[in-house]
Amino acid sequence: MKIIRSKYAGACYGVERALSLVDEAANLTETVVHTLGPLIHNPQVVSELKRRGVEEAATVAEIDEGVVVIRSHGVEPAIIRQAEAKGLQVVDATCPHVSKAHQAARELRELGYSVMVVGERGHPEVEGIHAYAGSDAMVVQDPGDLPEVLPSDKIGIVVQTTQAASVLDAIVEALRARGIEPEVRNTICFATKQRQQTAVELAERADVMVVVGGRNSGNTTRLAQLCREVCAQTHHIENASELNAEWFVDAELVGITAGASTPENQIIAVEKALKALGEPV
Ligand code: SF4
Repeated sequence: MKIIRSKYAGACYGVERALSLVDEAANLTETVVHTLGPLIHNPQVVSELKRRGVEEAATVAEIDEGVVVIRSHGVEPAIIRQAEAKGLQVVDATCPHVSKAHQAARELRELGYSVMVVGERGHPEVEGIHAYAGSDAMVVQDPGDLPEVLPSDKIGIVVQTTQAASVLDAIVEALRARGIEPEVRNTICFATKQRQQTAVELAERADVMVVVGGRNSGNTTRLAQLCREVCAQTHHIENASELNAEWFVDAELVGITAGASTPENQIIAVEKALKALGEPV
């Protein structure tokens, strides 16, 4: 049985950076460290952090002292001001790509555009970008979601970093059909795109595809869905103990990929377990 790992798989730059910042905070400080929401959507990492004394809080109001870590999704500036006003030490792990989207939203607003944030309504990253985009800013998920009446004809677009380019293109086309030429700041990050493209290319050739990552991780779940479309034998697992030898009977090529929130050690553990399954008894 041949085992191939997808060219781009596992933790992206922003997640690696957030993990290392929280690690540093947990090692250096004597006081309690909180993350605002789960640091990443990976239950094993979150429980390991808890074991090391890193707690999770839903809001700043729940934290009385110590360090608060802002995760890679970023937050609206009012939340950072609230934490500082309470005397908390803020460790900002907002991914620099997300910060660029914040800057783009602010610039468009300052240039007099009505800002349209293309992204998933209610997602923490989108809420953060929206807060920089001005009072008439709107969130649009797809062309069908465009409001009938726009606040102005001067529309500036900024995009959730993990959006598919096809959604952005479709929204721009729909606006053009209404006679509006939007100013587009394409803030899509390539980490997600690379993971999806290379995983699908591998899944097309594989007999069985194994996707590693939290079941609560949106990007891992999406990766598994895309792989399943081209490889029916796709299994989404959180850790090596879930591998089932029966999945690999007669498999010649097994592909492995992992979501942007899956740390390297979890992928290596699955690779090792798969190699052990493939060895002759
Ligand atoms: S997917 Fe991109 S924007 Fe999101 S955390 Fe990773 S590197 Fe940053």
